[in-house]
Amino acid sequence: MDWLQAAKERQDELIQELQELVQINSVLDEKTITADVPFGEGPLKALEWLLAKGKAQGLQTKNVDNYAGHIEMGQGEELLGILCHVDVVPVGDESNWTYPPFSGTIADGKLFARGAIDDKGPTVAAWMAMKLVKDAGIQLNKRVRMIIGTDEETGFRCVDHYFKNEEMPTIGFAPDADFPLINAEKGIAALVLSQKQIGDATKEQLLLFNAGKRSNMVPDFAKATVQFVSSPFEQNFQTFLSKNQLEGSLLMEGSHYIITIKGKAAHAMEPEKGVNAAVYLAAFLQQELTTEGSKQFVDFIVDVFHQDHYGHALALQYEDDMSGQTTLNPGIVTYDATQGGNMVISFRYSVTYPFDDKITEAQRLAADKGFSLDIQENSKPHYVSEDDPLIQTLAGVYRRQTGDNETPLLSTGGGTYARVLKKGVAFGMLFPGDPDVMHRADEYVIVDKLVQAAAIYAEAIAELAGK
Ligand SMILES: [Zn+2]
Repeated sequence: MDWLQAAKERQDELIQELQELVQINSVLDEKTITADVPFGEGPLKALEWLLAKGKAQGLQTKNVDNYAGHIEMGQGEELLGILCHVDVVPVGDESNWTYPPFSGTIADGKLFARGAIDDKGPTVAAWMAMKLVKDAGIQLNKRVRMIIGTDEETGFRCVDHYFKNEEMPTIGFAPDADFPLINAEKGIAALVLSQKQIGDATKEQLLLFNAGKRSNMVPDFAKATVQFVSSPFEQNFQTFLSKNQLEGSLLMEGSHYIITIKGKAAHAMEPEKGVNAAVYLAAFLQQELTTEGSKQFVDFIVDVFHQDHYGHALALQYEDDMSGQTTLNPGIVTYDATQGGNMVISFRYSVTYPFDDKITEAQRLAADKGFSLDIQENSKPHYVSEDDPLIQTLAGVYRRQTGDNETPLLSTGGGTYARVLKKGVAFGMLFPGDPDVMHRADEYVIVDKLVQAAAIYAEAIAELAGK
């Protein structure tokens, strides 16, 4: 079966359907949320649109309480899941777009729209793949089910609800990331470090410290209010800034100094790509502060995070071949002289990480430095072995269809949608070397790649579920 040829013959239909879907504004809409419409009207319309397509093809469809739904074909005990989502992130400043974000304008061989590559394009490609398999008359020995979420971008409540009520696929893939496929995803935990004892608030030099709003970002701004500091303070600050090539500001307010430092934002999965403003501000203050609570706070930050993203000071460092280094990002850092310091760390740990032993040891080491360590959230690593038939099949299909025998299978410190599947991987549809325009202005999908992805997904379905 020449799947690429079959997909090419239906390119117009593929584009037509993608345009219809991207023209539905399916951003989470607080204003139209009701008890029956959990994410607002737009995401629900997009779900209903796709389910209607399934019905029109004579396939089984189900809407699960307006949270998610599915389209199913084939017969058999086992279930192959294809996990997609039809919600999109907001467009941002619309003046940054060359074409209207909900138009699906085609130019230079690309289709431009919010959702074009995340995840409406891949969803429509996978939907076309189901039709190609059906129309080719391929006999199936598994049921093939496209599961359609409507809240991937804002917390996965769609699939959480779905899988409380519906069957977990035996195997699956999610066309919501990169080709070839992602078979190793790190664990993602939020760790909270809190200062156990606080000094005398009336005597402390550090009054306030604030940086970051989200643990999954490197803070690009930090601010502190200090008092009772010795006189070359201003000069020391300027020296520190120029030595570290940083920008900052210093303001005198009564007997207080308010100082700020600018850093560089980055995603918590790659903290080394950012400049953590909180850590640099602490590094400066460490030279200046002597009172007990203030000093303990900045000492801790510098010991644990300054020029180290891997947690050596708390013995958290760890690395494995399949998923790489364990990393820490102090994303929210606060201190108040009356309450002490507090920080929330996005902790991205390797697939084979000995979590309990490492955390227990880190708690002991943190306690020595005056801090408690608690786990606020923990999403376990997600891994399917390269030797598994699912991986072998998907990788084989990708390599045959593209001729790309070079690009290794991928691992990520971010979480993909596939981690909600018991046994599943992210599989496309961003091709190696193509720019990642997800969540950006002028998001697009390359039309030829869309067609190629439909062919890849069709062959994958036929291989995984065909008799
Ligand atoms: Zn997505």
